[in-house]
Amino acid sequence: MTHRAARCDTGNVGMARRKLVYEGKAKILYEGPEPGTYVQYFKDDATAFNAEKKAVIEGKGVLNNRLSEYFMNGLTQIGVPTHFIKRLNMREQLIRQVEIIPLEVIVRNFAAGSMAKRLGLAEGMALPRPIVEFSYKDDALGDPLVPEEYIAAFGWATQQEMDDIVSMALRVNDFMSGVMYGVGIKLIDFKIEIGRVWDNEFPRLVVADEISPDSCRLWDIETGKKLDKDVFRQDLGDLADAYTEVAKRLGVLPTNVTHAPTKPTLIN
Ligand code: UDP
Repeated sequence: MTHRAARCDTGNVGMARRKLVYEGKAKILYEGPEPGTYVQYFKDDATAFNAEKKAVIEGKGVLNNRLSEYFMNGLTQIGVPTHFIKRLNMREQLIRQVEIIPLEVIVRNFAAGSMAKRLGLAEGMALPRPIVEFSYKDDALGDPLVPEEYIAAFGWATQQEMDDIVSMALRVNDFMSGVMYGVGIKLIDFKIEIGRVWDNEFPRLVVADEISPDSCRLWDIETGKKLDKDVFRQDLGDLADAYTEVAKRLGVLPTNVTHAPTKPTLIN
């Protein structure tokens, strides 16, 4: 999510007390309670193909809020800094205000999506090693893939920052791959965004935006079933069911979700 939009004073329904900072495709940013903070609100809107395909998927925002909290907390635990401070309620989390680096940082373990298409690779082919690539965040241009040399040349990030971003992305990849493997899911690829925070005069990089099945490809290890936004992109079924499956396996389902029936357990 970029933070470029002009400020305006209206919130969405029921949120008028907060000052809207930016509205993106799947999230809204409001001014936070303290300087240097934002409230990040997760909408139910799903978009694909640069917003050509749109739908409202009931419950998606609640699930992504929980899942992103879970992954960001895990990253903090292993020493990868993030913008996440705490979850506030079902759809909102408190985050640190950051300067978003205008790049989509993509890590791939298996060929899929645009890479499979570009290189004519079979979907699911194991890559020789994890590959980190960058797209320039610009919807009007369709987020074009950019070589690293462009990034320093155009001043989007310094060479030192690029080295740090690659190391962070690979740590996030190892963490996410391990967490997913533990619940029988293969992490095919994912996208993260990186933000800059200033501690006195020193810039520091943190993982920002969100980490959720909206920005990962997740395949069931046994069956190959897709449990991510491709379910929506490719009309493979109910997206909320797929995300619920991921949340259930990770044990992060919100307690008051009513469409998650629990069976009585036989105690011997
Ligand atoms: N991705 C994303 N936002 C984007 C583009 C990609 O979250 O704007 C994620 C996508 O869900 C996948 C990974 O980044 O997990 C790699 O996406 P790819 O380049 O294959 O593009 P796609 O096939 O999604 O257009």
